[in-house]
Amino acid sequence: MVKSIGDEYTWARECLLDLKEDAIEIEHLVTDADSSAYKAALDLHNEGINNVEPENFLDTRHLSDHVRKGAKSDKTLLKVMPATTKLKRQKLLNNFSVDLTERCNKELALAYKFYAGDFFKVKNKISHTVDAIANCYMGNHARCRKNSFACKGFQGSWLKGRPFLQNTFKISSNNENLDLLRKQINKRLGSKVLDKTRLNMNTNFVEGFNRSLRRSLPSNVTFKKNMSGRAHAAAHSVNYGPGESILELCSALHCDIPVGSSAYKALKNIQKLTFCRKKHKQSVNYKVFEVKKGASYTNYTKNLAK
Ligand SMILES: [Zn+2]
Repeated sequence: MVKSIGDEYTWARECLLDLKEDAIEIEHLVTDADSSAYKAALDLHNEGINNVEPENFLDTRHLSDHVRKGAKSDKTLLKVMPATTKLKRQKLLNNFSVDLTERCNKELALAYKFYAGDFFKVKNKISHTVDAIANCYMGNHARCRKNSFACKGFQGSWLKGRPFLQNTFKISSNNENLDLLRKQINKRLGSKVLDKTRLNMNTNFVEGFNRSLRRSLPSNVTFKKNMSGRAHAAAHSVNYGPGESILELCSALHCDIPVGSSAYKALKNIQKLTFCRKKHKQSVNYKVFEVKKGASYTNYTKNLAK
């Protein structure tokens, strides 16, 4: 039977059974919110094949993306954006959705730091922080001083120096807007979601490795003889970095690349560039650029549609 790549349930079941053969049982399973992989793990437990009951966690990066996109496409939120035209409001909402997601993540990170990783204290405090954040975006910082980690009220407001929103950004203050903001913030900081992201895990490494594997073993080429070798080389390259990996592999085969030779320098250079690029992608400047690029692309497609 041909299985679809998207059939996560079957694949997860097969992987888990494979692990079971090596006497490994899964306790924590990190997935997307819409994944059926957890159902597979749960079924294996219910069928009595696995003894350990699995617990499902949400991938924090996908969750943040999901929250950001949810805010970005929220029609009611669009209406309350403080701008004069619909186009400007949409632009502002795009920026606001990025800022809101970062605010939630920042509050959470600072809370964990403050309580030295004590989840129950963090959860308790964050339940008050949700209101502080909502009020903060409406220009009321009274709660920030007590319940926010990222905003110090008027002395050091969260929006001061933020790359996505102006310092003067303010959603008009009323109960409907408060509820609206609260609803958005609870998608990341609500108590159930906090439980499901308690261990702060994501699947970035897995996805990074998958990309690398696909590069080494493209689906349009069949590597009859060295398929497993290429797969192992991909794993090695991800762990060590592309330059260091080749140096290590050569050294293991007793054909060391002489230090100072042009090949050696080139490989070191590749290694350095990869890490610089990685760092750059995590920087604020890059994210701002991405937002601007996204905005100009939207304009471009709109112009095409005209
Ligand atoms: Zn504030």
